[in-house]
Amino acid sequence: MLSLTYSYRIYPDAVQEARILAWMEACRKVYNYALRERKDWIASRKCAVNACSIHCEYIIPVDTPYPDYYKQQNALTPVKKENPELKDVQSQVLQDALKRLDKAFKFMMERGFGFPRFKKTGQYRSIVFPQFKSNPVTGFQVKLPKIGAMPINLHRPIPEGFVVKQIRVISKASGWYAQLILQSDVSVPDVMPRGNSIGIDVGLEKFLAASNGQLVERPRFFNSMHSELRWLQRKLKNKTAYSANYRKAQHKIRRLHERIYDTRKQFHINTAHALCNGVGMVFAEDLNLKATSRGMLAKHCLDAAWGSFLGILSWVCWKRGVYFAKVNPNGTSQTCPQCGTHTGKKKLSERVHVCHECGYTTDRDVAAAIVVEQRGLAAAGLASLACLWR
Ligand SMILES: [Zn+2]
Repeated sequence: MLSLTYSYRIYPDAVQEARILAWMEACRKVYNYALRERKDWIASRKCAVNACSIHCEYIIPVDTPYPDYYKQQNALTPVKKENPELKDVQSQVLQDALKRLDKAFKFMMERGFGFPRFKKTGQYRSIVFPQFKSNPVTGFQVKLPKIGAMPINLHRPIPEGFVVKQIRVISKASGWYAQLILQSDVSVPDVMPRGNSIGIDVGLEKFLAASNGQLVERPRFFNSMHSELRWLQRKLKNKTAYSANYRKAQHKIRRLHERIYDTRKQFHINTAHALCNGVGMVFAEDLNLKATSRGMLAKHCLDAAWGSFLGILSWVCWKRGVYFAKVNPNGTSQTCPQCGTHTGKKKLSERVHVCHECGYTTDRDVAAAIVVEQRGLAAAGLASLACLWR
């Protein structure tokens, strides 16, 4: 089964827009309520018996089960009867808010993400319609349950043989968007490992290093965009809170955030295409295995950007018929690519890899990329190629 996500602009009228915004607000409240419920339960289980707080204590009976997704979803039905605000929202859309919270808790447990936070006004910016009985896109319109039909700009056609599975409606600074998740049951043969190979490694200074010696710099335009962002945020501070001018300044900031996001994505796509030129296999580090061991904040941000780049890279590789695989990231920067000796941890300032055993010398990140490539080739059953490397 093949799944694609295509994003299109949509144009709801004033009534539809108000209704979608009201739904988002209802979802946000449900999300926050459910988070409060879970937080209280967790807090009630960890307070010490011999040291009560002066202000308050969480008292929840011992036999009360943890409010997991299914309990919270069942609790939603009676609440909806009393609350017209929630009743108006399509039921699956509301359930999605609880699903999102459940996912946030799962990510915290499994991938070392932070504890889920309450969403402030305006921080809940999308709703999901997870199911459709019939095709919601007809001609130039998209038809959403309960909301109705609205124009959609199909700037690229929905590919032949695909059906719309889900729609995510997003409010961005530049307008409204619909993300269509398209699915086709046509099976596409897997890309087989073949041809030349390349390994890539992320560095703190360089955006990435490839095993063929190619280094991609961190793009400069982010620096200027980020300083513009800081300037706008300083201006926002001087405005009276929630005045008309405050909102205008806030909107400018949102526009800029969106532009930074778009620019970064374009840079990722271009870099991924450049890597695919002339190769049949691409290997990268598997970040999910690395997530628990991260420390510094800068590295944290870097990991996030790297993760979205890997997503785009695997998609571009698939599209161009290039084999893509992730390898175990542990110790890639501490192994000599020529003789395989463990060279010990390098300091951040050490930019060059020098092997004490065989004397092999190269750029530190390139060395790590070569190790990634060798591990990838070995995993793909092409170990002989890895030995032939030099
Ligand atoms: Zn060596």
